[in-house]
Amino acid sequence: MIRRSQIPAIQREAADLIRKAGIVLRPEEVDRIAVADFGLSQVRVFGAQILTWVETSRYGAKVIALFPNQILPEHWHPPVGDDPGKEETIRVAWGVLYLYVEGPDTLREGFIPKGKEGVFTARHEIQMLPGDQYTFPPGAKHWFLAGKEGAVVYSFSSVVRDALDGFTDPEIVRVTKIVED
Ligand code: ZN
Repeated sequence: MIRRSQIPAIQREAADLIRKAGIVLRPEEVDRIAVADFGLSQVRVFGAQILTWVETSRYGAKVIALFPNQILPEHWHPPVGDDPGKEETIRVAWGVLYLYVEGPDTLREGFIPKGKEGVFTARHEIQMLPGDQYTFPPGAKHWFLAGKEGAVVYSFSSVVRDALDGFTDPEIVRVTKIVED
């Protein structure tokens, strides 16, 4: 959960990162940046700031701002009905992103917070710099760790059903609970 009063400052900070990437944001888009804490209530450690530019029943385009060393936890996009699952391409716009996918364990530069080792199983580390991109096949586990200055990442995908994503960590709740204060 996150307190309502925390959100504007997080949105502004995320907008600053996105603008550093040279991406134009309208003022009203700053207010639309979604702050996800994945139910872990430690948004600076596990979280993501996501602005959705377009989301239809067929495709979506977003920009994701990650704060320094912020982790977007391990997840996958499961099949839904006839759809084999969301296919997603990410492209780094600014900063350094450590991407973790299934494969040989090459985790070197990144880290997994203490006590969470068991719920980060994809440990094939790919260091991504601006201009680097990667496409996840449907169903493949992945997670992100931002470098020490943060990262800004484009995400292009087929139909988005975030609420149905699978997460390795059973403590995760995808829909952020906002507490009024
Ligand atoms: Zn994903």
